Parts: sequence; C-alpha cells; structure tokens
Amino acid sequence: MAVDQTRPSYYQATCNDATRHPALEGDLTADVVVVGAGYTGLSAALELAEAGLDVIVVEAETVGWGASGRNGGHVCADFTKSMEELQKELGSDAAPTAWELGNETTRLVGERVEKYGIDCDLTWGYLHAADKPGHIDDLKAMRDEAASWGYDGMTLIEGRDLRDRIGTESYHGALHDPRSGHLHPLNFCKGLARAAVAAGARIFEQSRVERLDYGETGPKARVETARGSVTADYLVLAGNAYLRETAPFLYRRLMPVGSYIIATEPLGENRARALIRENEAIANMRFIVDYYRLSADHRMLYGGRATYSGIEPKDLGGFVRPRMLAVFPQLEDAKIDYVWGGYIGITVDRMPHVGRLGPRCYFSQGYSGHGLAMSNLCGKLMAEAIRGQAERFDVMAKVRHPIFPGGGFRTPLLSLGMLWYRLKDALA
Ligand SMILES: Cc1cc2nc3c(=O)[nH]c(=O)nc-3n(C[C@H](O)[C@H](O)[C@H](O)COP(=O)(O)OP(=O)(O)OC[C@H]3O[C@@H](n4cnc5c(N)ncnc54)[C@H](O)[C@@H]3O)c2cc1C
Repeated sequence: MAVDQTRPSYYQATCNDATRHPALEGDLTADVVVVGAGYTGLSAALELAEAGLDVIVVEAETVGWGASGRNGGHVCADFTKSMEELQKELGSDAAPTAWELGNETTRLVGERVEKYGIDCDLTWGYLHAADKPGHIDDLKAMRDEAASWGYDGMTLIEGRDLRDRIGTESYHGALHDPRSGHLHPLNFCKGLARAAVAAGARIFEQSRVERLDYGETGPKARVETARGSVTADYLVLAGNAYLRETAPFLYRRLMPVGSYIIATEPLGENRARALIRENEAIANMRFIVDYYRLSADHRMLYGGRATYSGIEPKDLGGFVRPRMLAVFPQLEDAKIDYVWGGYIGITVDRMPHVGRLGPRCYFSQGYSGHGLAMSNLCGKLMAEAIRGQAERFDVMAKVRHPIFPGGGFRTPLLSLGMLWYRLKDALA
C-alpha cells in the first residue's frame, strides 16, 4: 500500500492561492519543457522564463501537489554531508564552489520570498538538537568546520539557556544556525508558480507525462500526455520521487520514502512559545530524524517518522504522536487536527542526483529530506546550464550515484537496513 495523499494537509487548509492552470491539450512547442511543478521544476522555469525563453511546465496533478506542498517547511542550508566528505567526493578544486552553493540555498529562498513578495511566513532560525551527549561533539565539529570556511554564525546552546529556549528535557545541547529557518511550503511553492507565470512561463496541471523522448539523437526533446504533447529544445525532469518508472535510469537511483507530519490544534501564542521560545525550526540528530516547528497560527507541526517499507501505518496520528509526546509530554491533551504524508526521494549516499540524459535533457532529484532550499538552487543550476553556463551545475553533477541494490526487492532490503539504523539510534 502507498502513502494516502488524499488526506487534506494543514497546508492545503491554509493555502492562500486558489489559482488553477489548464490541462495540456494538443501539440505545443517551446524552448524548454519542464516535467513537474514542485520547487525544482518551478525554480528552473522561473529562471529560464526571466531570461526570455519560452517555457512550458507540465504537472500530473496541481502546483505543489508533490513533496513541495507537503514538507516540514524546514529551510536548511548546506548538504547532508560535511565539507570534509564533500572534498573527498568532489576533489579539493570543487570544494569551495560546493561550499558557496550550500550557502546559496537558503539565501536564494530568502531572496525569492522578498523579490516576488511571496506570503509564506518565512522565519529565520534553526536548531540542530543533540539527543545524546555524544552528539555535542558532532555539533561542535559542524560549527568549527563552518567557521574554518568563513562562516562563524553558529552558536552552541547548552544547560539553562537550552531549557529556556526549548520546553523539553530531551536534549543535551543545540546548535543555532541563523542562515536556516522555516516557512509555509505550499504557499511558497504557489508563489514560485505565480512568479514563473508572470515571467511568461505556461503551466499545465492535471497533465501526467506518460512518454518521454530525451532527444538523445534527434533535434528535439518531447513529452506526451494523454491529450497532448510538447516538443522543445530542452527537457527538464523535475518529478523527483513522483516520477518513478517514467524515467527508469533516474528511478533506479532514487528511493521514494513515505514521511508523515501531524499538526496539533492552535495552542495559543503563550503555550506555543513555551515550547520553542524563539520560534526556530528544530531537528534532532538521529539517523531517522524528528523535525518540527510552530506554524504561524501557533500549532505544533511535528514530522516524526518515515516508512521505508512502502506500507502506510494504519493509524498515522498514532504513528507520529508518540514521538512528539516523548519530547513534549505537555502536549498530551493537544488535539491533532491534521495528519498527512508524502514521498521523500532519497539517494544511496543522500546527495542530490543532478545530471544530463544526453545533450537536451537535464534532471535533478533525490535531495534526501533536505530539498526545500536545495531544490530551488538545483533548478537554478539547471537553468544556468541550459543557458550555456554549466560550471556550477557540473560540480553537482560530479557526484556519482550508484543504483539501489535489490532490483524489485529493494524496498524490503531498505526496510531491513532501516531497522538496523533504528536500533542504532535507540542504543547509541
Ligand atoms: C513529508 C515530507 C517532509 C519533508 N520535510 C522537508 C523539510 O522540512 N525540509 C526540506 O528541506 N525538505 C523536506 N522534504 C523534502 C522536500 O519537500 C523535497 O526535497 C522537495 O520538495 C522536492 O521538490 P521537487 O520539486 O524536486 O519534487 P516534488 O515537489 O515532489 O515535485 C515533483 C512534481 O512532479 C510531478 N510529476 C511527477 N511525475 C510526473 C509526470 N510523469 N508528469 C507530470 N508531472 C509529474 C508531481 O506530481 C510533483 O508535483 C520533505 C518531504 C516530505 C514528503
């Protein structure tokens, strides 16, 4: 059984843009056709349309229907890997560019919110919270590594200060990062779509691409839906965890993993701020991460667990709520108003999978749970590459991505692997 994505999310209930786009009918042409209207696709479309190219975005459902309209709203800087690991992977020549790209991710989100006047409750401030005493050394290493690259904005919070800051006894310390933060993900996504349309892009909804021609040998790329087609000089694949078998080469390197979030009833400002005084987004440091934050109307939005088995738990609220109560037992009486889920696209080594399929097709996927800010950047990098400036894109494309082992059995294998990590999280 798959994630039930028909459950209304808190984000859908509080969406501030009811714009609908037509379905694709007939045979159209464009300079660039983009598959998928999440952050990746819309970011590329926005950049390309602003540069004067004729862009068509084809979306199977509606703008932001995928992970971009369902996520935790955490706007995180950097990669999932340390700079030391990146240097090993990319070589020391490419490392400074990678560092700059990591910094640019959240800056780009902030710039776009401001430039296009996107009303999405963007709030800066992030806490990486140490569940175990041993995590403090990891936090210090993160802070010191950032400082060695010229960023000394991270502060370690411990002891009394920590208790004042987060209303829980669960953590041994937390690293504050003012470059990261949180926002309303669906309203942000709708804002990107408005900006892309204002720049001249055309968006078609309810138009699932069923066939792709990457244009590897021919003069054009082409996508086909049930009722139409787009032929273009370039194709951008931005369907991420939702694209699946439509692009087999990409799918073999990506695992769609279900992740779930609950939203409590509004708690009132005082009660909410007693939980997170400075209104930061917070994530813990376990392999299977808990991520949470307050909404603008003072709810706790808690994303607590992922399913790697492909099977949706029967009682979703009961699945995530115990995680929240383990950290905030004072929320025992808080009603759960919304529960929803979506698919995160993860790669084997948790790095974004960015590249080309021939000279006309660009793709970006697999941000492994850190995609809100990173997908915005990767969409921009694809647009740069299509416009002939591929240096930064090529740094990202350098990362090698093995396929998930197991073929048709890869889900049970991954599920087994995750059991091991859960055990490690519990014991370490
Ligand atoms: C529950 C959850 C919580 C998360 N929390 C966070 C977080 O707090 N912070 C963070 O940084 N990241 C988080 N993520 C990950 C983040 O949301 C994603 O990395 C990011 O949104 C990816 O954007 P995207 O545009 O690449 O993909 P998506 O937003 O998934 O967009 C892909 C789109 O392509 C469309 N599509 C697919 N196939 C086709 C086709 N054949 N034809 C036409 N259209 C197609 C889909 O309908 C979809 O709308 C979370 C994800 C989930 C699911």
